[in-house]
Amino acid sequence: MGLSPGPAQVDQLGTRAAPPIVWARSTHHSERRGAAVRWIVLHADVSPRESSTVSWLLSAASKVSYHALVHRDGKVTRFVVDSRAAWACGASEYGGVVGLNRHSLSLAFGNRHDGLERLTDAQVDAARWLIEDWRARYPSIEGILTHAMISPGRKRDPTLIPNFYRHDYT
Ligand SMILES: [Zn+2]
Repeated sequence: MGLSPGPAQVDQLGTRAAPPIVWARSTHHSERRGAAVRWIVLHADVSPRESSTVSWLLSAASKVSYHALVHRDGKVTRFVVDSRAAWACGASEYGGVVGLNRHSLSLAFGNRHDGLERLTDAQVDAARWLIEDWRARYPSIEGILTHAMISPGRKRDPTLIPNFYRHDYT
C-alpha cells in the first residue's frame, strides 16, 4: 500500500491536470483535404461572457467556429473535432500558405480584448494543457501563431491582452 499521488504531486512531476472539457458541437467545419496540421492559431473571442460566444458560434448566422474556447474559469468548450477544419481564421496567410483553417487548430481565449482584461491563471493553465496535448498528437505542428500574425491589418487578437505573450505557449 502507498499513498496515491494527489494533484500537487502530479503537478511536481510536470504533468498538468486536464481542464474540464465540454462539447458544443458546431456545424461550421470542413475537410482538411489532406492538409497537415502545421500550426495552432490563438484568438480572443472579444466578448464579456463565454455563454454569449457559445450561442453566437452555434447560431447558423455566424459561420464561425473554433476548435476550443478557453473560459475565464479554466473550463474548455470544444466545438469542432481536431480532424476537421474549424472556421476561425478567415482571410489569412502565413509562410506562403493562404487560408490557414485547413492547416491549423484554433484556440480562443474568453476575453473582451479591450486592452485591459487580463487572462486568468486558470486560462493560461488550460491553454497550455490543450497545446501540449495537441502537440503530442500532431507532431506536424510547427508553431504557435496569433490571428494578428496571419491576418495583419484585419485582426489583432489576441495581442491586445495585457498579459498575453505568445512565447508562453510555444
Ligand atoms: Zn481571431
